[in-house]
Amino acid sequence: MDSVTDTDPELLDKVINLAKRRGFIFPSAEIYGGFRSTYDYGPLGVNMLRNVKAAWWRSMVQMRLDVVGIDAAILGPPAVWAASGHLETFTDPLVDCRQCKERWREDKIDGVCPNCGSTEFTEARAFNLMFKTQAGPVEGEGATAYLRPETAQGMFTNFTNVLASTRKKPPFGIAQIGKSFRNEITPQNFVFRTREFEQMEMEYFVPPADAPHWYRYWIDQRFNWYLDLGIPAEKLRLHEHAAADLSHYSRGTTDVEFAYPWGWDELEGIANRGDYDLTQHSHASGAKLEYFDQGANERYTPYVIEPAAGATRAMMAFLLAAYHEDLVEGESRTVLRLDWRLAPYQVAVLPLSKKSELEGVSQEVLGLLQPHFACDYDVTQSIGRRYRRQDEVGTPFCVTVDFDSIEDRGVTVRDRDTTEQVRVPIEGLLAHLRGRTDQG
Ligand code: ATP
Repeated sequence: MDSVTDTDPELLDKVINLAKRRGFIFPSAEIYGGFRSTYDYGPLGVNMLRNVKAAWWRSMVQMRLDVVGIDAAILGPPAVWAASGHLETFTDPLVDCRQCKERWREDKIDGVCPNCGSTEFTEARAFNLMFKTQAGPVEGEGATAYLRPETAQGMFTNFTNVLASTRKKPPFGIAQIGKSFRNEITPQNFVFRTREFEQMEMEYFVPPADAPHWYRYWIDQRFNWYLDLGIPAEKLRLHEHAAADLSHYSRGTTDVEFAYPWGWDELEGIANRGDYDLTQHSHASGAKLEYFDQGANERYTPYVIEPAAGATRAMMAFLLAAYHEDLVEGESRTVLRLDWRLAPYQVAVLPLSKKSELEGVSQEVLGLLQPHFACDYDVTQSIGRRYRRQDEVGTPFCVTVDFDSIEDRGVTVRDRDTTEQVRVPIEGLLAHLRGRTDQG
């Protein structure tokens, strides 16, 4: 295993335990014994997952003039998935172990059954990963629907709607965040691979000749997004797929990989999809999915560059990268060094004592901060214990209200990473915290 991944052999278990114990991620339907690698996001997890998605949306949509968003349906008719190629080719090679009868994805097991160690398997057969269901009360032909296995097709089927309604022209992109479903043969590694997950995808439509430039551009952008949000450079790398390994639609794919506890693995894929999707949907639907360039008096089918990320998988990588154990004044602590933009709470307001004298000013401080930051409020146990609890869930700032606060109108701001404390006047607290989080 690579040296950067060869850190704490228990890291994955520690993060899974922390996630459960502190309300990030729970196994679904746990009171019934759980349900096949599905997970629910708890009070802290939902905050963090929303923050991951908000950071993506901000960088991909809000800060750009050339990208717009959509939110398309999850249920789709077979025609979409026939045209996209998914009905025929969205498959994984399924094998059965001849000894213990477990089923595996052939390309993930290196010829040895992870359950019993046997090397005897059935011939691989193509297993389609799409969830099929029926829409409406009548069964049979015409009622079949599929849960989308990726969000991308919504961008292609809405290509002309978006062009006509926004007057964008290539190069421009359509972005979407939402749930996708894949009947994975072996879901594994916590939320790394689940059957229900959330994606953040963008289809960027460009003149064909410019596709290589934009492909490189988006690889760069996406790599830097993870760096900017605090994943250390040594835990990230790019992996370009060999031509022989490319998906049916791709003219080039590069993965952003992360050093997971089990080794380097995919975080996001950036693909040059050529004109595959628009051409397929044009032929199948009869709609003209082209762009007419008035200046050049030329009609063409744009090429598509697609950065496709997983929101849930990214959240897991951020958690793994942020998890640290260190010593503070001789005492060990667990700390999530999450970027403040991703942390479930940015600020915890902590009245030094439960005594009622402190309640008024503590509530005042909370009221001042709550419109601007996600805040926790905790009055139980010793202040040291409360700091540890906030460190463990990644809260960057603790604001402690003490008996002097009533008189001097000051509070103490404690930094999660350095544990340094500074006295700040309540009147200047918001500006102080905004300064430290670049939130102008
Ligand atoms: P794999 O080959 O590992 O099955 P893929 O290369 O088919 O995955 P893509 O279709 O490129 O994956 O999906 C884009 C992104 O969506 C992935 O990089 C990942 O972050 C996320 N993703 C895909 N499948 C899953 C899943 N089953 N669970 C969680 N996230 C997923």
